[in-house]
Amino acid sequence: IVSRPRRLIAGNWKMNGTGEALREIEAMAAAAGDLACDLVLCPPSTLVERAARLVRGTSLRIGAQDCHAQPAGAFTGDISAEMLVEAGASHVIVGHSERRMAYAEASALVAAKTRAAYRAGLVAIICVGETEAERDAGRALGVVAEQLAGSLPDDATAQNTAIAYEPVWAIGTGRVPAEEQIAEIHAAMRQGLLARFSTAGAEMRLLYGGSVKAGNAASIFAVPHVDGALVGGASLKAEDFLGIARAA
Ligand code: PGA
Repeated sequence: IVSRPRRLIAGNWKMNGTGEALREIEAMAAAAGDLACDLVLCPPSTLVERAARLVRGTSLRIGAQDCHAQPAGAFTGDISAEMLVEAGASHVIVGHSERRMAYAEASALVAAKTRAAYRAGLVAIICVGETEAERDAGRALGVVAEQLAGSLPDDATAQNTAIAYEPVWAIGTGRVPAEEQIAEIHAAMRQGLLARFSTAGAEMRLLYGGSVKAGNAASIFAVPHVDGALVGGASLKAEDFLGIARAA
C-alpha cells in the first residue's frame, strides 16, 4: 500500500498583484500552519522577494510562474531559476498553457526549464493539458501523455516535481470537467509515471487545475489520483484560497 502524500495546493496569480496584495499573502501565511495540506503561492516575480520575506517562519511557500533554462546570460526580460531561489522562491510553475500558447513553449523547452529548476533547487510544478479542440477530436489522453513524456526530465522525483493537469478549456472559464474526465486523465498520468519512474511515479503529486473554487474543491479532491490543485482566480483572495486548502 502506497500512503498518499500530503495534498499540495498551489496558487497562480498570473499577471495580477501589486504591493497591496501582499496583505492577502500575509493572511494566507497566518493560516497555513493549521492546514492539512502544503500551501504554495506564486505571485508575479516583482513580488516574490517581498512575499518570501513576509512568509518566513510560516509554512506558506512562495513560488514563481516561469523561469529561463539558463542560469544567466543575454536573455533580455528573462529570470533564471537561480535568481528566483535568491529571491526566496522554493517552487516554480513551468509549461503553463498560457506560456505554451502565447510563447509557443514546446515540451522540450519545458523540460529544459524543469532541469533548470532542479539545478537551482526549486520544486517544478509542470503543467499539461489539452485544448477543447483536442478533446473534441478524442485526443485528450494522447496530448497529455505526449506533454508529460516530453516535459519531464529523467531525474524527476516525487520531491522535486508535481504535475498539474489543466485542461485549457477549464482555465478561467468556470467550466470544470466531469469527475470521470478528471479521473480518466489522472489515472492515465499515474500509469505513465509509474511505468517511467516506478516508485517516484507512484508518489509524484498530481494536481488538477482549471476553475477550482472552494465550492467544487472537495468533489475534485475525492477523485482518485488527485493530490491537490493549481488555482488561478480563486487564489487571489486569502479567504477563497484558504477555503480550497481547507477542503484538501
Ligand atoms: P483558474 O486558473 O483557476 O483561474 O481557472 C488555473 C490556472 O491557470 O492555473
